[in-house]
Amino acid sequence: MNISPELFDQDSDLSDYTAFSHGLYIGGKWRPSSDGRVIEVADPSTGAVIAAVPDATLADAATAVEAAAGAATSWRETPPRRRSEILRRCFELMTERAETLAVLISLENGKALRDARGEVAYAAEFFRWNAEEAVRITGEFGLAPSGANRIVVDYQPIGICVLITPWNFPAAMATRKIAPALAAGCTVILKPASETPLTAYALAALYEEAGVPPGVINVVTTSNPGPVTAAMLADARVRKLSFTGSTGVGRVLLAEAAKHVISCSMELGGNAPFIVFDDADLDAALDGAMIAKMRNAGEACTAANRFYVQAGIHDAFADGLRKRMAALKMGAGTDSETECGPMITRKAVGKIDRLVQDAVARGATILCGGEVPVEKGYFYPPTVLTDVPPDAAMAHEEIFGPVAPISRFEDEAEVIARANDTEYGLAAYIYTRDLAKGMRVASKIESGMIALNRGLMSDPAAPFGGVKQSGLGREGGQKHGITEFMEAKYIAVTI
Ligand code: NAD
Repeated sequence: MNISPELFDQDSDLSDYTAFSHGLYIGGKWRPSSDGRVIEVADPSTGAVIAAVPDATLADAATAVEAAAGAATSWRETPPRRRSEILRRCFELMTERAETLAVLISLENGKALRDARGEVAYAAEFFRWNAEEAVRITGEFGLAPSGANRIVVDYQPIGICVLITPWNFPAAMATRKIAPALAAGCTVILKPASETPLTAYALAALYEEAGVPPGVINVVTTSNPGPVTAAMLADARVRKLSFTGSTGVGRVLLAEAAKHVISCSMELGGNAPFIVFDDADLDAALDGAMIAKMRNAGEACTAANRFYVQAGIHDAFADGLRKRMAALKMGAGTDSETECGPMITRKAVGKIDRLVQDAVARGATILCGGEVPVEKGYFYPPTVLTDVPPDAAMAHEEIFGPVAPISRFEDEAEVIARANDTEYGLAAYIYTRDLAKGMRVASKIESGMIALNRGLMSDPAAPFGGVKQSGLGREGGQKHGITEFMEAKYIAVTI
């Protein structure tokens, strides 16, 4: 199959973006893969092929590293103020084009338009935040304890960065890496997920328009990510791997990076507990539960994966959640009425179905949903389960879909132990009117992020990341995000 810009013309609203269908984005140029092969992109609401993008080879990976290396010196020497202005322009252009980008995200990922709009705003915000951070990178200066010399610490760009992103937030997971890397003075090669490459290429065109020089951002898509990534990491000029995706692939990449002792940031899977105490505001907890569970139809690393509800409020919460979940409108993401879009692939639907069947076989009760619809497309209905036992597979694996498993608990110590009974430690949610209890429980939950009486915690101004097998390092936040792309250089000087 040849790359055909006409494939994009099926939706005239997106016709402005057909240019990016021409190729890999390397050194400021659009080019086909060296062997001319392509990857087909499907619309998850129908399964129909909507586009094709180049399928990069090892030779293309080498060309991308060459381009990033060629641009590295001039970019690191570009004054921070200028880098900041370019990043700010990226924010402005993303904001101006928000609706088109949101439709594109909905089309290739399937998420509801309202979620896609939220993602574009969140993704753009990384450019605004890092434009502000770019001019505030400071070092350290002090007297050595011996009094013999001064200690000067300078923060320098780490070098060429390989960035790998998942399909669930095609824009935000990329900008959460690109913006701090560029602010720090690094050049990058982005490898987006092959399920959702169109947003990455659309954004590449936008970065160029914003003034990002050729070679500073390169984008390559491949159906052969293991060898292509290994080839890039084997080039001694590559000094950073920043990955967002599953814990399984993260482990493989950590081993690959270890061969070359490359700095790694890992944003991996989650298994977030959502804890509701008896004294919680029921309506607020239900509002928060719907956001924590149903943003992106449950396809989020921070998605509430296990609901632990205290005995006194359990039945009211379960009934309230059932009513809200059952009322959601399922449909194509691009349909403005849709509240729950399709899953990314048929395989993803199969996994969710397996987890639900397993829970039922172990004694769980379905309050709503629980059956794969017969329509075309990769749909799974909003589903609520109660009496989900601790040995159900879904208590330990990411569901990554619109399924809310509820379990009852009696006291604080029990729920903390159950919440921590997982290899993951990304996010957790707590609802209680007792702030002291909320803070006490928050301090004992093993996760990198806690939302206390809130259904959402993601914020470019706050450090995002996990503990345990949910990852290494942080993205966003004051200094955290940029520091991942910098090295401290210590200079001992006698003054
Ligand atoms: P995935 O791990 O299958 O793929 C992620 C990326 O890695 C894709 O670009 C994929 O092509 C690439 N990849 C796959 N195998 C590779 C290999 N051997 N070498 C190099 N690259 C490889 O994950 P996914 O299904 O795309 O995304 C869902 C996962 O991402 C979930 O586990 C979710 O929790 C996680 N996630 C985490 C965060 C976070 O911030 N912690 C955010 C979003 C998603």
